[in-house]
Amino acid sequence: MRYDLLKDLTKQCPVCAETIKVDAIKCRYCGQLFELSEVEEEKKKIIAKIINSKKVILVKANKYIKKAWIVGVIWGICTIIMSLICGYFGLEKYGISYYNIIDSILILVFTYGIYRKSRFFSVALLIYLFYNNIIYQIIQGKFTIFHLVWATILGYFFVIGIIGTFNFNKLQQYFGESETKD
Ligand SMILES: [Zn+2]
Repeated sequence: MRYDLLKDLTKQCPVCAETIKVDAIKCRYCGQLFELSEVEEEKKKIIAKIINSKKVILVKANKYIKKAWIVGVIWGICTIIMSLICGYFGLEKYGISYYNIIDSILILVFTYGIYRKSRFFSVALLIYLFYNNIIYQIIQGKFTIFHLVWATILGYFFVIGIIGTFNFNKLQQYFGESETKD
C-alpha cells in the first residue's frame, strides 16, 4: 500500500534540474538516462525518509493520546472522590452530589475510548468537558473562574488527545495495523 504513494512522488533531474517522477529511468526534459539500479536505490531512500517522518508523527500521536487518557482518568477519579465527599457531608450546594458519580462513569468510559485511540471519544470528552464546566454551570448560575481554569487546563490535554487520535488513525491506514502498535 505504501508503494502507491510513489506514483506521484517527484525528484529533480540531476542534469537539467527539472522535476521528474521518482520512477523515471529517462528524463522527459533533457533525455538523460538513469541506471535502473540507481533509480531503485533512490526510491528506497525516499520511501525510508517518508516512513521515518510518518513514524515521528506516530510516536508523537501516541504520546498525545497517553497524556489525554491519563488526564481523563485523573478527572474521572477526582469526580468520584468529590461526589462521595460532597454527597456524604451534604455539600450539594457546591454543585456536586452523589449524582455526579454518573458523570465520572461517563468520563471514564470516554477516557477508555481515547485509550483505545478512538477519534469519536476524544472529541466527545472535550465536548463533555465544555458542556459540564461551562455551559451547564452558566445555566445553573454557578459558573466561576475556577470552572474556566479547570476547563482550560483539561481542555488543552483533550485537544492534543484529539490531534493524537486523528493522526494515529490516519497513519494506521498508511502503515497497517501491525506497525502502529506502541
Ligand atoms: Zn533532465
